[in-house]
Amino acid sequence: MAGYVYRCPRCGPWEVRRPIGTAESSGRCPGCGAEGRRVYTAPLLSRTAAPVAAARLREEASGDAPTVTTTVPRAAGRPAPRDPRWDALPRP
Ligand SMILES: [Zn+2]
Repeated sequence: MAGYVYRCPRCGPWEVRRPIGTAESSGRCPGCGAEGRRVYTAPLLSRTAAPVAAARLREEASGDAPTVTTTVPRAAGRPAPRDPRWDALPRP
């Protein structure tokens, strides 16, 4: 299905959804019934956002050549907060 835009001289544009290639050059306005001509617009194409595209490339690459981790990553920044109840626990 594709959206085809028509323009009524009185009411303005409206859109009709039809199978691709079945749009006529004019149509009846749903508001007033006047004849409206088809308006050619840019197709609704969208680009994939860069972070999403990068994630998809990594996902595809991981199937053929997965990244192998050989070291344990360093802990970042501060150590975990210490709970005072740990002092009451028995020591080995
Ligand atoms: Zn109209």
